[in-house]
Amino acid sequence: MNSQTQRPATPWPLIVLFFVILVSAILTGLLFYRSQKEHLLSTSIQELSAISDLRVRQIVQWRNERIADGTYLSQNVTLVRQFSKLMKNVNDRKLKENLRSDLKALVENYDYRNALLIDRECNARLFYPDTDTLIGDYLMARIPDVIHKGEVVLTDLHLTGKVSFVHLDLLVPVKNYENKGTPVIGLIVLRIDPYKVLYPLVQSWPATSKTSETLLFRAEGDEIVYLNELRHIKNTEPFVRRSVTQEKLAASMALQGIRESTDAIDYRGVPVIASMKKVPDSPWYMVAKVDREEILNSLNEKVGLISLVVILFILATGSFLGILWRNQRVRFYRGKYESELNRLALVRHFDYILKYANDIILLTDKDYNIVEANDRALETYQYSREELIGMNISKLRAGISAAKFFDDVKIINEEGHYTFEAVHRRKDGATFPIEISARLVEIEGTKYYQSISRDITERKKVEENLKQSEDRFRKVFEDSPFGMAMTGKDLGIIKANSAFCEMMGYKEEEVLGLTFKNFTHPGDISEDEISLLRLVAGEIPIYHTEKQYVRSDKSIIWGSTTVSIIRNYKGEVQLFFAMIEDITSRKIAEAELEKSFSLQKATLESTADGILVVDNAGKIIQHNQKFAEMWRIPDEVLRLNDDKAALDYVITQLKQPESFMQQVKHLYSDPEAVTYDLLEFSDGRYFERYSQPQKLGGKSVGRVWSFRDITRRKKAEADIIAAKEKAEESDRLKTAFLHNVSHEIRTPMNAILGFSTLLNEPGVTDADRQQFTDVIFQSGNQLLSIINDIVDLASIESGQVKINMKEINLNTTLRRINDQFSYKEKPQKIIVSLSAPLPQEDADIVTDGTKLVQIISNLINNAFKFTKRGKIDFGYTLAGEFLEFYVKDTGIGIAPEHQPKIFDRFYQVDSAVSRRYTGTGLGLSICKAYVELLGGRISVASDPGEGATFSFTIPYIKKSES
Ligand code: ADP
Repeated sequence: MNSQTQRPATPWPLIVLFFVILVSAILTGLLFYRSQKEHLLSTSIQELSAISDLRVRQIVQWRNERIADGTYLSQNVTLVRQFSKLMKNVNDRKLKENLRSDLKALVENYDYRNALLIDRECNARLFYPDTDTLIGDYLMARIPDVIHKGEVVLTDLHLTGKVSFVHLDLLVPVKNYENKGTPVIGLIVLRIDPYKVLYPLVQSWPATSKTSETLLFRAEGDEIVYLNELRHIKNTEPFVRRSVTQEKLAASMALQGIRESTDAIDYRGVPVIASMKKVPDSPWYMVAKVDREEILNSLNEKVGLISLVVILFILATGSFLGILWRNQRVRFYRGKYESELNRLALVRHFDYILKYANDIILLTDKDYNIVEANDRALETYQYSREELIGMNISKLRAGISAAKFFDDVKIINEEGHYTFEAVHRRKDGATFPIEISARLVEIEGTKYYQSISRDITERKKVEENLKQSEDRFRKVFEDSPFGMAMTGKDLGIIKANSAFCEMMGYKEEEVLGLTFKNFTHPGDISEDEISLLRLVAGEIPIYHTEKQYVRSDKSIIWGSTTVSIIRNYKGEVQLFFAMIEDITSRKIAEAELEKSFSLQKATLESTADGILVVDNAGKIIQHNQKFAEMWRIPDEVLRLNDDKAALDYVITQLKQPESFMQQVKHLYSDPEAVTYDLLEFSDGRYFERYSQPQKLGGKSVGRVWSFRDITRRKKAEADIIAAKEKAEESDRLKTAFLHNVSHEIRTPMNAILGFSTLLNEPGVTDADRQQFTDVIFQSGNQLLSIINDIVDLASIESGQVKINMKEINLNTTLRRINDQFSYKEKPQKIIVSLSAPLPQEDADIVTDGTKLVQIISNLINNAFKFTKRGKIDFGYTLAGEFLEFYVKDTGIGIAPEHQPKIFDRFYQVDSAVSRRYTGTGLGLSICKAYVELLGGRISVASDPGEGATFSFTIPYIKKSES
C-alpha cells in the first residue's frame, strides 16, 4: 500500500447534495417572492378599486346634494317673491337687506363661497359677500340656456379671469309662477369653492400612504385636464394638462373606457397601479392610484429578509456538509493511521517472534548458506551470529543425517516443504536430535529455504520413558497373578493376561473380542451393567464388586473385580481395565463359617439359660435374647453396645450390688477361674450363675456366662417349708383345741353330771334344787353353744353354708341386739351403747340378717368376755358403697403379734393350757367366714390393755335397689 498516493475520494455526493439544496433554496426564495408580490399587487388593486368606487359614489352624492339644494332654493316661494319684488323695485333697501341676509345664510351654512342674484340680463342685482361679484365669460355663455330651460344646473370647474379662484357654479333659475309669460325672472348663482368640500373629499385616503392619490379630470379635445390639486405637482397653475396620446397614462386609459384596475403610469410618468372610473351624470373621470414602488416597498423589505434566510440556510447546509466531509476525512486518515500502526506492530511482532521464538528459525539461500538465524538458533548451536551467518547448513548435520542431507533437500525442492527428523551438532561437537520443518520460499524472485526446527532431546527422552513404562506395564500385566483384561469402548476384550485366561479356562486368542458378559454369571449381569453406566458417567471413580464367573467348563468361580476407566484428554472413554482376583476358596470358607455361626446362634438362642460372652476387658461380645430378657435390659441399650449402661442395668436389679462388683473384680484378677454362685434380686428373683473362660490357643480371651432363673424352684422350696410349718402349727392348734374342747365340754358336762346326781341326793331343798337345775341348764346351754360353733365351722369348711338374702331394717335389728345385751346379766357394770346413724327409711337393706346378727353378737360376746370394766360401743357408719360395722371395747386388747392370727381357726391368745378365758378359738374364724360370704372384710385394731376394735364391712344394698 502506498500511503503517499492515497487521498480521500472527492465527496461528490456531498457536493451534488449541496448544489441541489442551493438551487432549491434559491428557487423557493424566488417563488415565495413572486407569490408575495402578486399577493401584494392584487390586494392593492382590490383596495384601489374599493376606494375609487367609494369616491365616485361620494362625488355623485355631493353633486346630487348640490342640485337638490338648487331645486329647493328655486322652489322657495318667499325667496322667489322677494326676488321678484326686488326686480320690480331695485331700490327697496329693506327688501335688499332681507335678501342679502338670506344669501348670507346660504353662504355661511353651505360650502358656497359667493351667492349672487342676477336678472335675466345677467346683471348682478344683489350679492354676498362683496368680492368676486362679477359674472365671468364661462357663466355668461351658459346663463341664457339656463334661463331658457328653467332647470337647476351645476357647472364644471372653471376659472374665469374675473373670478380669482377655481370654482363651479350652481345656477338656480328663479321662476315667477304668477307671471306665466316669463317664468324665469333671474338666477341665484351660488359659487362653490371646491377646496372646501369637493377636493378634500376627492383627496382623502383611508390609510396613510406616501403616493396614493385620487385624480378628478375631464377631457378637453386631445387633452386631459386634471381638475383637482395634484399631490406631486404643487403650487402650479390650476388644471394641469396632459395629452391623451400617452397610452399608458391612467387618465387616457379611463377615457378609452378601461375600467378595471391595472398597471399604468401617472401624470409624472411614474409606474402606478390605478383604478379608473367615470363619474356618472358629469363630464368627470376619476383615477385612484398608488405608486407601484410604494406597494412593492414592503415586499422589498421582506425580500431582504428572505434572501438573508436563504443565504443563512445555504451557509448552514454548506457548513454541515463541510463538517461531514471533514469528519469523513478525519476518519479516513485515522483509519489509515491505525492500519499503519497495525502494520508496524505486525512487523515488530514478527521480528520478536523470529528473535525470541522457542524454535530455531534459519533462512538459507539456494546454496544452503545461512543468511538469517534467530537467537534461539545461536543459543542452540552455540555459534555467534557472525559464525553462523554464511555457514553452509549441511555442516550442522551429524552422523547419518549428514549423508541424508541432499535426499532431504530433494524432497523439499519437489514438494515445496518437508518435515523430518535429523541429528544436528553444536559448536562443541555435541549432537542432538532435531525435528525440522523446512519450506521453499521465494522472496522478490530469489529462492530461499526457510527451516523451523526444534531440539527434541526431551521428547525423545519422554518417548523412551514411555516405552520403558509401557514395557514395565506389559510385564506386570503379563506376569500378574491377578486376572487382567482391557476392553475397548464396545466392551470387547482387546487384551487379557494369562492369569485371566487361565481363570476363565480359555486360550488367549479365544477371549479376544468376547465381553465380560460372556463370563459373568447371569445373576450378576444387570448389576454390572448399571455400575458400568455409572462409571462411564463419572459418578463413581472405580467399580468394585465380588461376583460369580462362569468358566468355559461351566464351573463357577468367585472373583473380586475392580473395573476402572481410561479416558483421553477430552474425557472420552478409551478403555476399560478390569482386574480380577480369584476368591472362590475364600467364599467357600466364608460359607462354612457362616454355617457354623448360624449353628452357634441357633444353639445360643434355643437354650433356656441366658448366655453372655464378654472379652477380657469386660466388653460384651455376644449374648442371646434370653439374657436380655432375664436381665430386663432394653434392646436399645444392648444395641448401643454400651457395656457401662448394660452393667448399670444389671447392678440396679441386684439385692447386693456391692458384692457383685467385688466378684467381678475378683474374676478379672483370675481370668482362668470357673465360677458358680447364686444371685439374689431385690424383687425376689434368684439366678444361678456359671462362668468359665473362653480360650483361644490355650489362653483366656474372655468369659462365657450363663444364667439360669431358679426363682420358681426357690419359691416352691419356700412353699414346702411354709406348708410344713403350717401343718405343724395346725397340729399344735388342734392339740390345744382338743384340750380346750375337752375342757370346755368336760366343765359343763361335769356340772350337769354332778348337779344331776345332787338332785337325787336326799335333803335337797327346793331352793337347792332350783339352783342345781339352773346350773344344769346353763351348762347345757354352754355345751350347746360349743357344739353349735363346731357344727357351724364344719358347715363352713364343707361349703354347706348358704347366704340367705332378705330385706331387714338395719336399725331395728341392731336395736334388738342392743336390747338383748342390755338385759344380759352381767357381773361387771359395762354399758353397751349403739350408734345407728342412717335414717330409718335408708336403713332398709338387703342382706342375710341371721348371719349379720350372729357376727355382731359374736363380737359383742367376745368384748364382754375380755372386758372387766368400761363400755362396749357398737354400730355402723356408711363408707361409700359399704356399711362399716364396729364393736369397740375397753378390755385387755390384743398384742400386735397376735392380731393377724386371731382369725385363724382354734387360735387363742392365751395358751391353751393356762387359759383364763373360756372359748374354743372358733368364734372369730366363723365371723370372718360369714363376713366374706356377705361380701366384706373383717379387721382388728387394738392397743394392748386399752381395748380392741373389731370392724367389718358388708355391701350397702338398699331395699329399693334389690
Ligand atoms: P374363743 O372361743 O377363744 O373366744 P375366738 O375365736 O372368739 O375364740 O377368739 C380367739 C381369741 O381372740 C380369743 O381366745 C382371745 O384371746 C382373742 N380375743 C377375741 N376377742 C377379743 C377381745 N374382744 N379382746 C381381747 N381378746 C380377744
